[in-house]
Amino acid sequence: MAGSSGESGQSRRPSAPSLAVIGAGVAGCALAAGLRRGGWDGPIDLWEAGRGPGGRAATRRSRQDAAWRLDHGAPLLNLLEGPEPELVAPLRSGDWIVPWREPAAELQADGTLGPAEADPLLRGALYRGRLGMDDLCRGLLALAQAQGPPPSPTGHYGTLVRHLEARPDGGWRLIEATGTVLGEADWLVLSGTLLAHPRAMERFGWSEVPLQRAAEGLGDGALETALAALASMGMQSRTNLMLTIEPTAATRWLALPFRLLGFDGPAQQRWGLRRLAIQPLADGRCGVVAHSVTDAVVDIAALEGAVASALVPWLGERPVGGDALEGVVQRQLMHWGAAFPVAPGLSPTAMLCPASRVAFCGDFIAGQGFGRIEGALRSAQALAAQLLAMVLLLCLALGSPAAAAAAAVTYRCDGDLLLATSDNGAVDAPGLPNTSAGTVPGATVLLEWRDLRLQLPRTNNAGPPSYTDGLWWWSLEDPQQPRFLHRRGAIERFSCQAVAAGGPPAGGH
Ligand SMILES: Cc1cc2nc3c(=O)[nH]c(=O)nc-3n(C[C@H](O)[C@H](O)[C@H](O)COP(=O)(O)OP(=O)(O)OC[C@H]3O[C@@H](n4cnc5c(N)ncnc54)[C@H](O)[C@@H]3O)c2cc1C
Repeated sequence: MAGSSGESGQSRRPSAPSLAVIGAGVAGCALAAGLRRGGWDGPIDLWEAGRGPGGRAATRRSRQDAAWRLDHGAPLLNLLEGPEPELVAPLRSGDWIVPWREPAAELQADGTLGPAEADPLLRGALYRGRLGMDDLCRGLLALAQAQGPPPSPTGHYGTLVRHLEARPDGGWRLIEATGTVLGEADWLVLSGTLLAHPRAMERFGWSEVPLQRAAEGLGDGALETALAALASMGMQSRTNLMLTIEPTAATRWLALPFRLLGFDGPAQQRWGLRRLAIQPLADGRCGVVAHSVTDAVVDIAALEGAVASALVPWLGERPVGGDALEGVVQRQLMHWGAAFPVAPGLSPTAMLCPASRVAFCGDFIAGQGFGRIEGALRSAQALAAQLLAMVLLLCLALGSPAAAAAAAVTYRCDGDLLLATSDNGAVDAPGLPNTSAGTVPGATVLLEWRDLRLQLPRTNNAGPPSYTDGLWWWSLEDPQQPRFLHRRGAIERFSCQAVAAGGPPAGGH
């Protein structure tokens, strides 16, 4: 049975370390939600250069024009096959995300429309934020806040972290460009690559890669390996043209047979465009966001001309010699310097560097959903599970009675930490009581691994304990190397070894 509650750890885990999370995009917000739902009671601070949460899945707003808002990065999210990331169900039931039901199509070079499924960003289950894409991150933060009593994660917006400093006693200090210390924390999490990638030297003229500089002298091989992998990661940039169309002309745009138009390969070559997203505004206007193909910054007139040319079959010819579209009242460019990471990405085994207390999550982590919102969600959930497992492991190492009562053991399974918490006897996982018709539940094991939380009931098999829900199997013939299997057509086996307890972090945790 897939555990659906996040309450189970709260009464069991003692105080967790403080976290400074760089970035309040999907990954940073999902990490905060995953940790709080898993019982993390330490302070969580999100440091974000943008004006609000969202990152590349943000919604652009105007202080002067309340009805104007445009999703200027990702217009939607898609989930491909596999278990749904755990945070999606509460986002859906909280109405933060809704299924994407708008018409989508793909434009071919001869000006005809084909089905949209060829675009990898349009396959699978499609969702959008209810009022704008930033509802996704707002929803994640609401999920993190709903967990009380630990204080809500604190968002520090409009704040660019420029320097990082490893404290001599362990832990991290965050510093802005002026040299002012912004904050301190036991652990540092990078949910964006800016502080660990050489592109900032080119883009902002920085003299060094901040995390590389801070890591010098720490002697943490795991962090150095992660930094080397990040430094060599390619990033694709994008330039988006944002158009605002007045209400009369907007009716023609909103009557088009698509709200999202992908361009196939030859069409991309012909028009230099990758996608068009048409977004109605509350007052009858609409916004149009055109995503360019090229990595170079493209000027407004060239992009607008390309849009007008691609849409001739629906909007008609432009006035002779003019590139401007009818009814456009505002034009803006948005340049995404690091729009999409280039595969293969950072290995999930490099996400956690315990010796230096640095961790990574974001769409740049290799795995399902890489380079998309799905990957940002999955990586954050996997990191939350690893951090929660680590804290419980450290508590066990310290002999904490609270943790010992949970009978939790940490394993490494196929490279990722797994926390197995067994509850013996007539119990259910706390927070999931079910005594329906007078029945009493039996022993269970709760497995937290990657983005999964599985509560498996004990089998009646003779011999050492084994647990299964029919799909997942966990058995302890050799407690050092449990058998961990998944049946999905064929049987998938994961190799697990018990992890020896490490030392506690400094700072009293
Ligand atoms: C034009 C475009 C279209 C896209 N279309 C789709 C799509 O259709 N479907 C899809 O699934 N995905 C799409 N994506 C990708 C999707 O937006 C990303 O995969 C996802 O939003 C990544 O989330 P993240 O949290 O990993 O990273 P980010 O959103 O980049 O979050 C990292 C955050 O960290 C902040 N930050 C970094 N360094 C610092 C610092 N030093 N100080 C303070 N703050 C800092 C940044 O400001 C940023 O907000 C698109 C992206 C772009 C740009």
